[in-house]
Amino acid sequence: MKHIAHWIGGAPVSAGDSRTSQIFDPATGQVAGTVELAEVAQVDAAVAAAKAAYPAWRDASLVKRARVLFRFRELMDSHRDELAALISAEHGKVHSDALGEVARGLEVVEFACGIPHLLKGGFSENVSTRVDSYSIRQPLGVVAGITPFNFPAMVPMWMFPVAIACGNTFILKPSEKDPSASLLMASLWKEAGLPDGVFNVLQGDKVAVDRLLEHPDVRAVSFVGSTPIARYVYETGTAHGKRVQALGGAKNHMLVLPDADLDLVADAAVSAGFGSAGERCMAISVVLAVDPVGDELVDKIVARVERLTVGPGDDAASEMGPLVTGEHRDKVASYLDLGVEEGAKLVVDGRTTPILGGGAAADTPGFWLGPTVLDHVPAGSRVHREEIFGPVLSVVRVSSFDEGLELINTGEYGNGTAIFTNDGGAARRFQNEVEVGMVGVNVPIPVPMAFYSFGGWKASLFGDTHVHGVEGVHFYTRGKVVTSRWLDPSHGGVSLGFPENK
Ligand code: NAD
Repeated sequence: MKHIAHWIGGAPVSAGDSRTSQIFDPATGQVAGTVELAEVAQVDAAVAAAKAAYPAWRDASLVKRARVLFRFRELMDSHRDELAALISAEHGKVHSDALGEVARGLEVVEFACGIPHLLKGGFSENVSTRVDSYSIRQPLGVVAGITPFNFPAMVPMWMFPVAIACGNTFILKPSEKDPSASLLMASLWKEAGLPDGVFNVLQGDKVAVDRLLEHPDVRAVSFVGSTPIARYVYETGTAHGKRVQALGGAKNHMLVLPDADLDLVADAAVSAGFGSAGERCMAISVVLAVDPVGDELVDKIVARVERLTVGPGDDAASEMGPLVTGEHRDKVASYLDLGVEEGAKLVVDGRTTPILGGGAAADTPGFWLGPTVLDHVPAGSRVHREEIFGPVLSVVRVSSFDEGLELINTGEYGNGTAIFTNDGGAARRFQNEVEVGMVGVNVPIPVPMAFYSFGGWKASLFGDTHVHGVEGVHFYTRGKVVTSRWLDPSHGGVSLGFPENK
């Protein structure tokens, strides 16, 4: 049984008799270990370590910081498999998918390696006679990242490479459901030469989050998780004077126009709906089929779903793994009966899916639910509107582009969306009018590259800056503008007038 604790000041720290939470093997349902849950004293110790490390790290040259990042990048690269195995064992996703999240996270490290260029300011000579102005961006101090269970490596890597490259010190509070990846990353930072205290990990729950949100020495908080907690973190953090970006939940729609290639659409819908068992904030959970393509498209989706292999994440034959916990699986599964009650047709029932090495999903130990397809889901029903966050794909039939667009724009969330069509004019109108932060045109999971920024609209993001990319650099720095004049003979004496250019 493993026991996971904190990483503070460059070393593992255990509080001994602290509160703990269980870590499961989702494929078997067995308890695999425990994770400590930080109390206020451990949070304060982590903040103190990060605060003590800040002055020297802030003053480390850009080139020195970049070199640490380059070394971290190389170490992470050579530990990809180990990291993916840790993720798969606690989250349940298949190994290849875990490798994918490590790769996407590494792209942010690679982006942050360019920090000397990213922090370049502007310079204007002679803004007034013999007066120059220049802008600089400076780090904030101690910053924190609070992350969800579904990407235990990638989502933290959306945050800490940029924050650390900018000269801040960082405290990661990962999900208590799959905490091990955070400690491997902490030890690789140390091996890369990052000074102790610049990167810290606090395992924990609401107690740790609340203390981080109110601690006077924490300057900014990045959060990714469900919408109710994102809203709470944003409101509480900003009430305590902090800069906060809080990314929330999602309900992503794919609009399928009648001219689309339905084989391409079916491949995309199944990949984006059931990859990582639907536990992705960019998963497609609703297909809006514009008449008359619904019947043909559903047939193609069902044919593909029935060929999927569901099994343990460490079995190379598995394409989809279990859900993260039994509680979450039960919540997701409850939407199957709800959907039928609301008038949908259950065309593939994931409770009966055969599991590799076991029986039907519902009868096999572990947190299993196979890919599920609900057709004729009524627009506006709970199954259509609520975030299910599991392997449940809903098909809503609509009569037109406009009806589909309206359904997307009246939804609570605005994280990701996609249109599938061969009509460039329709695609252009869609990307122009849709009220969603990340849009795919014939691309079902339009996750921006590291050098663009990731973030949704409406209840999918509280705050105004998205993560990583240039907006990430902006979030983790403060701007300063210097206006300078060196003494010269034109010095004109006292003037109480408002400074004007001369
Ligand atoms: P969650 O909101 O339950 O937990 C996220 C973090 O908040 C965890 O670290 C958790 O320990 C902490 N937390 C939980 N309850 C808390 C409370 N009451 N007070 C303070 N902190 C609390 O989310 P999750 O179940 O881990 O992750 C899934 C959710 O994350 C989904 O809603 C998904 O859409 C969302 N998500 C969003 C994005 C995005 O980019 N918008 C990305 C990934 C996941």
